[in-house]
Parts: sequence; C-alpha cells; structure tokens
Amino acid sequence: MNSASEKIRVRFAPSPTGYLHIGGARTVLFNWLLARKHGGAFVLRIEDTDQARNLEDSTGKIVEDMRWLGLQWDEGPEVGGGLGPYFQSRRLEIYSRHAEQLLADGNAYYAMETPEELAAMRESAKRERRSTTYIRPDPLPTVAEGLAAKQAGRAVVIRLKMPREDIRVHDEILGEVVLPLEQAEDFVLMKSDGFPTYHFACVVDDELMQITHVLRGQEHLMNTPKHIALQRALGFHTPRYAHLPVIFNMDGTKMSKRDKEKAIAKGMKPPEIDVHDFRTAGYLPEALLNFLALLGWSPGEELEFFDLPELKARFTIERVGKTNAKFDREKLISFNTTWATRVTPARLLEAFKDFARLNAGADSRAAAALRAEDSFIQRVLAACSGFRTFADVLIKGGFAFLDDDAVTYDAKAVEKVLLKNNPQGIKVVAALTEAFERLSSWSAESIDSVVQQVRSTLGLQMGGVAQPLRVAVTGNTISPSIQDTLMLLGRNQTLARLQRCLKAHGQK
Ligand code: GLU
Repeated sequence: MNSASEKIRVRFAPSPTGYLHIGGARTVLFNWLLARKHGGAFVLRIEDTDQARNLEDSTGKIVEDMRWLGLQWDEGPEVGGGLGPYFQSRRLEIYSRHAEQLLADGNAYYAMETPEELAAMRESAKRERRSTTYIRPDPLPTVAEGLAAKQAGRAVVIRLKMPREDIRVHDEILGEVVLPLEQAEDFVLMKSDGFPTYHFACVVDDELMQITHVLRGQEHLMNTPKHIALQRALGFHTPRYAHLPVIFNMDGTKMSKRDKEKAIAKGMKPPEIDVHDFRTAGYLPEALLNFLALLGWSPGEELEFFDLPELKARFTIERVGKTNAKFDREKLISFNTTWATRVTPARLLEAFKDFARLNAGADSRAAAALRAEDSFIQRVLAACSGFRTFADVLIKGGFAFLDDDAVTYDAKAVEKVLLKNNPQGIKVVAALTEAFERLSSWSAESIDSVVQQVRSTLGLQMGGVAQPLRVAVTGNTISPSIQDTLMLLGRNQTLARLQRCLKAHGQK
C-alpha cells in the first residue's frame, strides 16, 4: 500500500485513561507490523489533553504493556525522537498557533454560546429530528468580539467552519466512506480552558509527526471526515486511513472495559479485558499476539500459529477484513496451551516468573515459586504440561513450591477423600506412610510399586489410594500424576507431609 519512495510512519495515540485494553493492543500490533514490514517508524503519542480523564501513571502502564508484548516504538515517551514532544499536553502552544491561523484565514471562528443556548439547540434538534445540533451563528462573531467575550470571562471556544459539501474518505479496508453534508457540523477545536479537542490535536500532530498511515479502530471512522475537513482547512496532507474491525464478545455484544463492572455487579468473575489482565491471569504474550493478529486479519492460508517475525513477513492491510472480529476466549486458551510448548524452556521459565511476580502479593504459592530454583520451577512446569494458563500451574503444581507446613488442606477434599467411610482415606495414608518409610530408593518406579502394593493389600481401586495420597501431600485433589507429584517433593518432604497430615486429620 505504499509507493517505494514513501517512508511509512504510523502512530499509536492512546489517551492515558488506564491500562492498555485488548482493542488498543490490536491497534498497536497492526501499526507495529506495518512499520516493521516496510522499515518505517512507529510513533507512540500520548493524547493527554483531556485533563479530567487522565489517570495517574496510565502512560507508564501502557508503555509497560507494550513492552511486555514486545512491541517497541521508535519515537515517543522514554525514547524521544526528532518530532516531539510526544505528549500532547506539552504541545499546547503548537495548537494555539494553528488555531490562530485558522481564525486568521476565516476557516474557524470564536463561538460563545452559553450552556443554556447549547441545550436549547439540542432540544430543537431533537424536536426537528435533525442529526446535527449546533447551528452556525449568522453573522459569525468576529475575532475581536471573541477576544472581548473571553476578556469578559465568558466561556469561548473555537469552532471549525465545516465546508458545505459531502466529505469522502477513502479507507484502505472499507473503501469509500461519505460523511453527508447534513451530518457535518461546526465542531469545537479549542475548548474554553485553552486545551485542544481530540480532533484538533490529532490532526495537527499527524501532520507535524509526518504520519503516512492511520490505522485505528472502526469506532473512529466517523471522526475521519472531520479530520479531513480540518486537514484541508489547514493545508495539510491527508494520511491513508485504515479502520480496523470492531472486536465483539462471543454473545454479540461489543467488547468493552465496562464488561468487567457488569460481571462484578452480577457477582461473576470479571473477564480479562486489559492486556494487564491477561498477563496477570497467566497468558504468554506470544499467544496473545498470535490471537490478536487474527482478530480482523487473516493470512489467507490454513496457518494458525505465528510469531512476530512470521507475522511481519505476512502482514498486509489488504488482508484485514471489514467484518466484526469475535473474541473467542476458548481459542485464546488453546493458543496459550500450544504456545507453552512452542517457546523454549528458558522463555517459559521467564514468563512464569513474570506471572509469579505479579501474583506474589495475592497468592502464597506464587510467592513461594519466586524463592525456588529455576531448574525446580522448570520441573514443575514440565509436570503440569498441557496447562491452559500459568494460573493452572499454581493450582496443579503450586504445592511443590510451598514449605511443608505452609500447605493448607482443602476442607471439602479432606472430608470427601480422607475422612469419609470411617475414615478410609486416613487408613490408606497411614499404610502408605509406613511403606514409604521402608523404601530406600526414590524413583517413579519405586513409588509406583508402593502404591500398587498398598492398593492390593487393601483391595482398593487405584483412585482409592492415589487420591488420599494426593490430598495428604498437596492439600488438594488436583496435582500432576502421583509419581510426578511425589518425585517433585522427594522422599523427605513426602514423608514430612504424610506425617503432618496424619497428625492433623488422623484418629484422635
Ligand atoms: N486518543 C484516541 C483514542 O485513544 C486516538 C484515536 C486515533 O487513533 O486517532 O482513541
């Protein structure tokens, strides 16, 4: 989509209102891919002119999530660049200058309606079923009148004089999009507090930062004709636009940050929405990226698994679809399971430790994992292979990281597996303890022979022995195979835990 001479420059322009959400991450990925594919530049610009919406340290969080995904920018916060500053709040003087030019050229005007007057316009628009609300004053206030009103302390804004013609956008994905004349109104460029609106700052910066391609979500589509009108008024070039499909939940609702609040209100576990949620829940960035790439883009073949270099080689805007993308969580989980086997053991270890660090404050198993040797963590990961997320590794293998006396017994498991039938499970644990005490070698085979021997002596099924043993040493009914479980613990820890269990739950 570019001519050979054009150096591609793209940007991701988040408003710092919280963590990077999944739609934003997809926008980052597609911009990054386009820049990398063509040897262009990827700019990160922080759109922080809406002071009321800016949240503390959001930029830091967004930057961290982009780094976690491995999508580094070439210009922007922390790295600088020749066309900065890259925070809009530090560019106010630039916007004022451009607003003055528009005023001087007669392409914009001061508007000074009171909130009551604006409310009355909204009312009449409703009554008359007009899609636009603002009615351009006739005659327009002069610059001198605007300045005088400002001096007098009135709330004065600057509005663009929209052209009285339909505005056409050529979208690289959607084709021709038209903003019909009757939907075009004179929108605000500069607010009364002296800050630019999103539209104005975005258009000025796309020009000054020499952006060639704007890839952003389809929710911005109807902003684009406004941006084009503004570019014309300012004598700017128009970048190429490509609006990415909206991301939907499987139930057909639009995926949004509010899904979390809705779930909490219903007493349900909030779904992962932000990149940080997926990271904390134990997904690999490799899996998330692979999954994000397929939210709207397709390789055109049956291929499913891609890492960043492969994506870079294959990515084209032409293969981004028009239709909504479905966020299939089951598919993401299966990608994660697969990616856990595709990355190197060293990479898996690093990712698990990152997960454990994020969860150490809330989960004693995660905290304990961070104190373990790397080689031991790798053994636990191997014993839990096939896991969905790292959270499953904690559930299934977390027992191995804990000190013996830190193991807590799940009350239901104790009741059902150890104490039921007067107490059958405890008798099994006692018999196993004796047999393991006599065992000198500790291997999967010797462990198995003990389990088999106790099983046949007591005339039980395999589960009748393995489950009490599992609950006794892990506190729970879920762990890797019984041989793997006991091999991870070793002889001393196994015996210590069996004895502790007998002491805690054996006959008084
Ligand atoms: N700050 C806007 C947002 O976060 C950027 C939109 C755009 O890419 O133009 O949605």
